Amino acid sequence: MVAVQGTDKQGPIESICIVGGGTAGWMTAAALCSKLQGLPVSIRLVESEEIGTVGVGEATLPHIRAFNNSLGISERELMQTTEATFKLGIEFCDWGKIGDRYIHPFGDYGPAIEGVPFYHYWLKLRSEGVNGAGRLDDYSYGVSAAEHYRFRYPAKDPAAVESTFGYAYQFDASLYAKFLRRFSEQRGILRTEGKIASTALDPNTGFVQSVTLESGEAIEADLFIDCSGFRGLLIEQALQTGYDDWSRWLPCNRAIALPTESRGAIGPFTRATARQSGWQWRIPLQHRVGNGHVYCSDFISDEEAERVLLDNLDAPALKGPNRLRFTTGRRKLLWNKNVVAVGLSGGFLEPLESTSIHLIQDGITELIQIFPDKSFNQDDIDEYNRRMELHFERVRDFLLLHYVATQRDDSDFWRHFRSMTLPDSLQEKISAWTERGTIIAYEHGLFLPPSWIAVMMGQNLMPRGYDRRADALPTDVIARNAAAIRANVAAAVAATPTHEDFIRKSGVAA
Ligand code: FAD
Repeated sequence: MVAVQGTDKQGPIESICIVGGGTAGWMTAAALCSKLQGLPVSIRLVESEEIGTVGVGEATLPHIRAFNNSLGISERELMQTTEATFKLGIEFCDWGKIGDRYIHPFGDYGPAIEGVPFYHYWLKLRSEGVNGAGRLDDYSYGVSAAEHYRFRYPAKDPAAVESTFGYAYQFDASLYAKFLRRFSEQRGILRTEGKIASTALDPNTGFVQSVTLESGEAIEADLFIDCSGFRGLLIEQALQTGYDDWSRWLPCNRAIALPTESRGAIGPFTRATARQSGWQWRIPLQHRVGNGHVYCSDFISDEEAERVLLDNLDAPALKGPNRLRFTTGRRKLLWNKNVVAVGLSGGFLEPLESTSIHLIQDGITELIQIFPDKSFNQDDIDEYNRRMELHFERVRDFLLLHYVATQRDDSDFWRHFRSMTLPDSLQEKISAWTERGTIIAYEHGLFLPPSWIAVMMGQNLMPRGYDRRADALPTDVIARNAAAIRANVAAAVAATPTHEDFIRKSGVAA
């Protein structure tokens, strides 16, 4: 290890202070106490009940299962405690144009044939006008099961069509944080209740030395993890790291959230419905439904945004609205000196694809991989920041795709996206797709080709060509193959229990 920036200390980290006990703080605490088990390091978490947490966050991505599994958390206990339902994907309504509807599943469309992804064969059938090729969705077990409100665990046999999907949870993130708090405290994390009033910096290095609570108690640590939410208590207020504002691409800057009673069948999917100046979410949990309207205040007033939400609820509200403001973007450095920002303190991209909790997971995973010692090697810090920059940018591009792959021009909000200059990385991706039907792979890309295909096709952005290797098979052979795959998917879905039955019988009901 060389090139120490700002510190000449040596040796392993002995003390960690996590500032904040929202989802980010407790996920970080749980992961660190588990992964650093056996090492002589003390971990302390400070949170303030008076300040509270952001109080939203319900839909997740399948990767959260790997996170929980790596901590040895039982899915059954987790789902019971957090009132969770299963999630097979997101249903997008009115995005391509009003009246459109598609599901972005966690899974693929049909099996690759001779190494060529199935959708190229489907595009070939369509381009040749073959009748009966159906929707690409009919080749996805994940989409079909979601459409029929059905769920089962993925099959272990990779040859079975029931193995071709993943799943996530729709849960109460504040209950998840409480669950992880218990987990962490049982493993020795020390929790301190209190409000941090000030932060002391080392006058020579600018590193954070300690935080002082309103009670006067000062807490010193070698490493600080800033999980203080939008305020960025250490990363911004103390270290003035700076913020990359991405509202020129993702202009939505406010949200109103509201839970409603649970009525009717519980869908194994989240719904995102495009509105005139933003979009509305609907996330069914076991005992209630989370709803919210994300919008851009340049195009709609807060009162009007609230009316849009209230007019479009399908059950009575259980609580008054929670109003939130944000600026999409990310901290210029997610790791600065001896402070790592995890969660909202590191940045926020709107919740359209349920990526925030996932970005917390990315931040923790990368930190554990590049865990510092007291020298805080600058090359390691730079590498962490490079990786996190990519994670955020990849998500940004995918979110932006939903706003630009659209034919909607029925409001100033939607027309705004027509004249927008896209990030080069997204422009290249869209061009490769429309010209050749190719999905360019991204380093550190969270969303794999089927996700891009789902959104592009779901929003009517069809490619002009397809992979010519699909011409190696005669059209009638492809058509017979395709019919067999569709029948297989339909039969498998028909034999799948309903989502509600599965929740009841699998023992995950709260
Ligand atoms: P917070 O929850 O704000 O926690 C901050 C913590 O810091 C609190 O414990 C607070 O007490 C503490 N703190 C702050 N200042 C001090 C101080 N001075 N002294 C002591 N303690 C302090 N994510 C998803 O993955 N899926 C979703 O569906 C989703 N939907 C969302 C919808 C909206 C409208 C928004 C805004 C976010 C959504 N998110 C979603 C994001 C998700 O809610 C957050 O990523 C997640 O909750 C993490 O928040 P956090 O822990 O970083 O911050």
